[in-house]
Amino acid sequence: MNKYQDKYVDYLSDESKLQGFCDYIEFPTCEEEVIDLLKSNNKENSIITVQGGRTGIVGGSVPHGGLLINLSKMDKIFTIDDDILSVMPGVPLFAINEFVNREKKGYFFPVDCTEKTASIGGIFSTGARGPRNYSLGDSIKYFAGIEVIDFDGRKHIISTEDEKIYNYYKKEGKAGVVTQLRLKLLKKAEHIWGIVFLFDRTEDAVGFAKDVEESKIENIMSFEYMSASAIALIQEFRYGMDKLKGVPEFEKDVHMIYTEIFSDNEEDIERSAEILMDLAANNHSDIDQALAVSTEDDLDKMANYRHAAAECCNMSIEQAKKSDNRITKLSTDISNIKDICHYVNLQTDIRYVVFGHMLDAHLHINFLPQNYHEYMEAKEIIKRVSIENYLKGATIFTENGIGKLKQYILEALKETTPSKPPYLL
Ligand SMILES: Cc1cc2nc3c(=O)[nH]c(=O)nc-3n(C[C@H](O)[C@H](O)[C@H](O)COP(=O)(O)OP(=O)(O)OC[C@H]3O[C@@H](n4cnc5c(N)ncnc54)[C@H](O)[C@@H]3O)c2cc1C
Repeated sequence: MNKYQDKYVDYLSDESKLQGFCDYIEFPTCEEEVIDLLKSNNKENSIITVQGGRTGIVGGSVPHGGLLINLSKMDKIFTIDDDILSVMPGVPLFAINEFVNREKKGYFFPVDCTEKTASIGGIFSTGARGPRNYSLGDSIKYFAGIEVIDFDGRKHIISTEDEKIYNYYKKEGKAGVVTQLRLKLLKKAEHIWGIVFLFDRTEDAVGFAKDVEESKIENIMSFEYMSASAIALIQEFRYGMDKLKGVPEFEKDVHMIYTEIFSDNEEDIERSAEILMDLAANNHSDIDQALAVSTEDDLDKMANYRHAAAECCNMSIEQAKKSDNRITKLSTDISNIKDICHYVNLQTDIRYVVFGHMLDAHLHINFLPQNYHEYMEAKEIIKRVSIENYLKGATIFTENGIGKLKQYILEALKETTPSKPPYLL
């Protein structure tokens, strides 16, 4: 086996900035090599960590000793058969999107995790999803099946119709190595519009979301919230981010809802846009400041802007880590939150930003601690907020996984209500 050497140091962490260590590291290129590796490591107490694109934010792919299996060299895209695309696990999402755009025009792979360098194996294993999940449903719907090697080196071919798929979906590499995936492609809508609405207060953005939900507009694709603090953070970092060129500089003290609506018929979109404008105005949004986009290029820019909120948090953590190496990413992944205003208006002096999927009541709070004391305090706040919301029926781990960094929350939830299993989905 390939002994770990310092040249592999980048493989010891992910985007959570947690730092790990390992004894051996391997880069298999095919299923047979994975089987050999797992068979030769099939001993009691052997530690195996599976790694995809290392964009995870909970340290799931960060090794703590033993063997690290990195899948970046299993990056073949096979052919499209009907509407099904077969791929190896190390293929990044952007490569899948480019391939489908080229080879099956008018179709797309619906799982829109905003981090496009995430591997498809990682996306499946964390249950990652994105803004369009609101209309398209959970990511499992878009996997037709997988091939997986368990830690005894046995191969399983599992279709998504088979309940056994849930032994591996969202299991964060704990049950085996996914070596091939079959992805379902969908036809694109003829028209998509994105509209930005700005609000002075979170309460107004939340009121708007409630009204939109009640209005039962049928063609909403995504409905993303960004707090004023998230917009201010992007302002701080945006000059180093080429992909934000052409996106307006929004005022620092406004909260944003970015929604996308879709249809094959442009009149439907216009009708929905008008209803949205009225509802936003009823919730004190200045409609003259609303911004609508409809070209693929402009929609991409807005997607980049939304993604920048997450990226800038990670950059801020990276900066703080220079002063204390123990600092890592600190974020929540709670959905089905009952009282959003209470959830986002935290009583703390520690800097934090909020963004996420408002209509799924799935907002991520990201703390930006400046030192270790703040880091520890923020960890406690996350624990408290998780327990509070868990007791109200919220889902605590939705799309990012538990990894190594959120084990302490899982333990706290188990202690709080031993009779009730923590909500995972
Ligand atoms: C800026 C930014 C934005 C993000 N936005 C989103 C978002 O919109 N939605 C979202 O859900 N997540 C988001 N994420 C988190 C991250 O992109 C996802 O968790 C993604 O699924 C991780 O994929 P990966 O290939 O990088 O996996 P890794 O980080 O390498 O691994 C993640 C987990 O999956 C396991 N794993 C990886 N590959 C396999 C395999 N083939 N077989 C078995 N187990 C495997 C690992 O063991 C680990 O537990 C974001 C991250 C960043 C940095």
